[in-house]
Amino acid sequence: MEDIVIASNNKGKINDFRVIFPDYNVIGITELIEDFDVEETGHTFEANAKLKSEAAAKALNKRVIADDSGLEVFALGGEPGIYSARYAGTEKNDDANIDKLLTNLGDEINRAAQFVCVISMSAPGEETVQFKGTVEGEITLSKIGEQGFGYDPIFYLDDKNKTMAQLTAEEKSEVSHRGKAIEKLRQYLEGEQ
Ligand code: IMP
Repeated sequence: MEDIVIASNNKGKINDFRVIFPDYNVIGITELIEDFDVEETGHTFEANAKLKSEAAAKALNKRVIADDSGLEVFALGGEPGIYSARYAGTEKNDDANIDKLLTNLGDEINRAAQFVCVISMSAPGEETVQFKGTVEGEITLSKIGEQGFGYDPIFYLDDKNKTMAQLTAEEKSEVSHRGKAIEKLRQYLEGEQ
């Protein structure tokens, strides 16, 4: 089985890759480097994903995949966007982030939002390639569901009549921003073979 290294410490994200790449040995970067951390100084998902995949590919001297993702709420001008992980402060805290978002949105009627994911693949001596996926939904008034991570419990999908947190990992991969971006990557890798 070929290895795929994912430059992320987020178990939820790594699991999403495992679901779409059952024929690969998906490895989280922390299994190879302790405390891998890259400062996300970019102003776009694309720039931050590239910073992560290029730094990791350089450190390991092998092909690495990174993603940068987040939630854009249209009535909040696209917030929290690239700041999704640290919306309520510097520490990653899903509950605090959700509370802040629901407070900021208040009783706003336009609750349309989208999840965005940009996947970046870098390898020594190769140009970085990127793939983008999005999914549209509505922000609920309160949390519903126990699966997933991050803003999943407040992201409602009209087609499914469920929040993202009510989907199994397999169901989420079929509709999610990350699932779509990973699928584009899978097709690219297949084409390369
Ligand atoms: P990143 O690790 O810098 O890409 O930050 C991603 C952040 O966006 C996460 O910590 C979550 O808050 C949010 N996010 C991204 N993808 C998802 C998802 O699939 N479900 C819920 N929240 C997500």
